[in-house]
Amino acid sequence: MEEERKDHISFMDIKVAKKYMRQYTELFGDEIYTFIDKNQIKAPNSFSFFNHNLNSFKASIENCEKCNLALTRNKFVFGSGDPDADLLLVGEGPGEEEDSSGEPFVGKAGKLLDKILKAIGYVRNDNVFIANIVKCRPPENRNPLPSEIEKCTPYLFKQINLIKPKLIVALGKVAGQTLLKENKLIKEMRNKTYQYHSIPLIVTYHPAALLRNPSLKVDVWEDFQYIRDFIKS
Ligand code: URA
Repeated sequence: MEEERKDHISFMDIKVAKKYMRQYTELFGDEIYTFIDKNQIKAPNSFSFFNHNLNSFKASIENCEKCNLALTRNKFVFGSGDPDADLLLVGEGPGEEEDSSGEPFVGKAGKLLDKILKAIGYVRNDNVFIANIVKCRPPENRNPLPSEIEKCTPYLFKQINLIKPKLIVALGKVAGQTLLKENKLIKEMRNKTYQYHSIPLIVTYHPAALLRNPSLKVDVWEDFQYIRDFIKS
């Protein structure tokens, strides 16, 4: 029987193709060699597939001065992980360790996050990307101001667009309220799967909240089991 014709390229086809091309460029660089005939190999073609990847996006925004957090930051914390991740974790904003290293979630809360990920069989950088609502540390770890969030969130939205994760997990109240545009408590936002521009999104407690209140671990463990099963499905 003739195979049914595929009239459209699915989202997964694009993800697989992107992954393949990324591996290709890691091996051979930003050049493609094409066979013209058996004896002749064409000189490298210029290839613009990666012009809009996460790295070039990072380079284009890392000197941002759109708000006053630029005046006090040490490092712009873009986020890090697998550019083809199925799981995107979104925190609130860098703390002291993140501000000095430039990496997200490397302090105490980050170590706990690593343990939680390990418990569901994940490690950061492999199928996981970690980012924040604001990319620069608010002084004294205060909550980011609405004006700072407003200026910074277009960066996160662009990251989401480039990564196209299977699931977004908002860690904590600030991330949940910002992404859902809701003024609710975590316990009201938990246990529901929302859609963020057609990408499923859930909200759970921030790992720093677990450090302050270990009894929340039961709920978070439930949420991360859901996350594991959702990504596998
Ligand atoms: N808390 C966050 O919300 N983000 C980090 O990167 C670190 C701590």
